[in-house]
Amino acid sequence: MSELQPSPLMAGDRHLSVAEARAAIAAALRPIEGRESLPLAETLGRVLADDLISPIDVPAHDNSAMDGYAFAGAALHADHACRLTVVGTVLAGKPFDGTVAAGECVRIMTGAVMPAGADSVVPLELCHIDGATVQVEPGVIEPGENRRRRGEDLARGQAALRAGRVLKPADLGLAASLGLRELVVMRRLRVALFSTGDELRAPGEPLAPGCIYDSNRSALQAALQRLGVEVVDLGLVRDDRAALQATLEAAVAQADVVLTSGGVSVGDADHTRELLGQMGEVAFWKVAMRPGRPFAFGPLHARSAGSSSWLFALPGNPVAALVSFYAFVREALLLLAGANPEPLPVLQARCTAAIRKRPGRTEFQRGIVEPGADGAWQVRITGAQGAGILRSMSEANALVVLRHEQASVAAGDPVDVWLFDGLT
Ligand code: AMP
Ligand code: MG
Repeated sequence: MSELQPSPLMAGDRHLSVAEARAAIAAALRPIEGRESLPLAETLGRVLADDLISPIDVPAHDNSAMDGYAFAGAALHADHACRLTVVGTVLAGKPFDGTVAAGECVRIMTGAVMPAGADSVVPLELCHIDGATVQVEPGVIEPGENRRRRGEDLARGQAALRAGRVLKPADLGLAASLGLRELVVMRRLRVALFSTGDELRAPGEPLAPGCIYDSNRSALQAALQRLGVEVVDLGLVRDDRAALQATLEAAVAQADVVLTSGGVSVGDADHTRELLGQMGEVAFWKVAMRPGRPFAFGPLHARSAGSSSWLFALPGNPVAALVSFYAFVREALLLLAGANPEPLPVLQARCTAAIRKRPGRTEFQRGIVEPGADGAWQVRITGAQGAGILRSMSEANALVVLRHEQASVAAGDPVDVWLFDGLT
């Protein structure tokens, strides 16, 4: 869709490590341009376009952190109780008119503006009340305690949120606390998605002998939806050069990114490679990982529309397609969308059984993370781990990541895990 800066991509016959492949992708990408202003309620999950500078002090006034009595802390004494006369009440949203003199106090509610002359609040439960007199024993509070300072949350002119932030529920609350009704966010990244393979049928269609249902499109579409990108669904494409070319042309004309699965393995690679070579600078990578090979990445140019997009061609095997998506595409899409991708949180969990592994490639196994008998997190591998066995992925709540240099793991050893879901 937009103009791309061609950038040198690593290729060749050497196997790239997962880390090298990720770095090469990140180095090639530049964020898209284009932004829009949206009502606050529509910005969840969107990418903030500019630093959000606070137009006000939050809180706007010194106020009470407690229900209690506000007074001048100078009256507190280390040796004897301090006695105060109640001269009024101040409620949240209703400031006190007068000034609190020495020896006086005002009944105050949490969040109410501190009256002039008062700098401390004694909580209700920590003082003795006798009619109009409040008594505070020595050592109960320090002068200045239980007062929230004006601007203590955020001072006017300070950045409340940084550009590139993927907006979360608390961020919308923060923007509202600044009085903002709208936010300027990046336009949504557009991703064209299709599956390739003569054997594929869409769910709902009858299944001819030797055919299978297209599961990658549903899984990838859902993963894209979670990232908040706009999906252009281009359906199923036969293993046919003309059909592939027509679909790629349409995809590049409409989208920033083209995401495909299938058709890049050795058997298909020749005609696909030739076509992609004509349409752009796509590198076919051998990545030292399991599952996941093969994988192709690079810019594609649509002759008809005069535009370019980034192609990510994933392996056809359903587990390999999703694992490659999480390993490479997710972060790349966030970068393109203008987000500062927060690194995936990597947790450590104790592996319940031994796993065989040879150093020199990254292995992703599907696992279930749960608390063990001692309450510490442990992970067990879900059943058969074949690259085509989608059930292993569906049962899992995490990917166990066995690092490139790592060797076999013994039962009880800690392993890295990526959790599929979290509090967002
Ligand atoms: P390919 O990468 O095209 O050689 O496909 C590798 C394996 O994944 C083959 O068994 C394909 O049938 C299967 N496969 C490819 N695309 C899909 C898809 N969209 N949904 C389910 N399985 C697929
Ligand atoms: Mg195929």
